Amino acid sequence: MNLARHPRISLAHLPTPLEPMKRLSELLGGPRLWIKRDDCTGLSSGGNKTRKLEFLGADAITRGADTIITQGATQSNHARQTAAMAAKLGMECHLLLEDRTGSDDPSYNLNGNVLLDRLYGATVSKRPGGADMTMEMEKLAERLRQDGRKPYVIPGGGSNPVGALGYVNAALEMLYQAGTMGLNIATVVHATGSAGTQAGLVAGFKALGSGIPVLGIGVRAPRDRQEQNVFDLAQRTADHMGLGDIIERSDVVADCDYVGPGYGLTTPGMIDAVTLVARTEGILLDPVYTGKGMDGLISLVRKGRFKQDSDVVFVHTGGSAGLFGYPDQLDLPGYI
Ligand SMILES: *Cc1c(COP(=O)(O)O)cnc(C)c1O
Repeated sequence: MNLARHPRISLAHLPTPLEPMKRLSELLGGPRLWIKRDDCTGLSSGGNKTRKLEFLGADAITRGADTIITQGATQSNHARQTAAMAAKLGMECHLLLEDRTGSDDPSYNLNGNVLLDRLYGATVSKRPGGADMTMEMEKLAERLRQDGRKPYVIPGGGSNPVGALGYVNAALEMLYQAGTMGLNIATVVHATGSAGTQAGLVAGFKALGSGIPVLGIGVRAPRDRQEQNVFDLAQRTADHMGLGDIIERSDVVADCDYVGPGYGLTTPGMIDAVTLVARTEGILLDPVYTGKGMDGLISLVRKGRFKQDSDVVFVHTGGSAGLFGYPDQLDLPGYI
């Protein structure tokens, strides 16, 4: 595989650090836990979408776009990072935010990621939960074309074969880092949503012949659907890179037991994980993705899913801006 064949702009601070979580590992008494700091990708306080946007932004430029359209949930980290990219490229940005949680909390609706979307100058509009967001984006694109603009539509989460190249690149980066550190990675764990992160990692690790399994912790869909989405996109990504039919169905594993009542809705396990990692490692997770992903990882460590004497890497995919959309749900002490 040759990533340099694909147009790319530089947006992210790379490589992101791969660090030990010493206190958390000790506390849990399981395998050695490591964290790949993709919350430190730099653009707009960081996150995994920035890696995807390096390829998507380049594609937008190649196609002569002057306007970016994308969609996500109200507290979408993808929308926030996309708005920052558009600002940096001097493009107009339109964000369609789907009300997936029904929350009327002003912090959820205006603070956190939404505050930053507006700060970057994006045009933000809402759609009801369950709306056909792909069609909504197409309708908007058509209207903008009639106004003489050249819109480039990025799917939710930046998850298509172009965006997923960002995580093929992350697989390459992680393998190189692990090699230089003498780290024999047993498993990579991360929160999986729109599937691009896991698809890119699976395709990348497979193409490199690394044998490293990836475990996605679901945040929305049930297991069958999540795995199928990741598998389809991993295949399309490998195909886009000219690698042919290298992905097997068994390469894709998701555990969707930590979603709780639904996407973007809090769970006690998420709150415990966010609090524990803040207090043992000084690291900020987020309520929607990495908090649930870490809840999954911690639970699996406690259940003995990983070998004691092994190294497990959690990919921190970002999202801490979302904490400010959930101020009252974290159950924190007041002043004493
Ligand atoms: C989008 C996102 C994910 C999930 O990545 P996908 O590529 O959509 O599966 C995980 N964590 C955070 C913080 C995200 O914003």
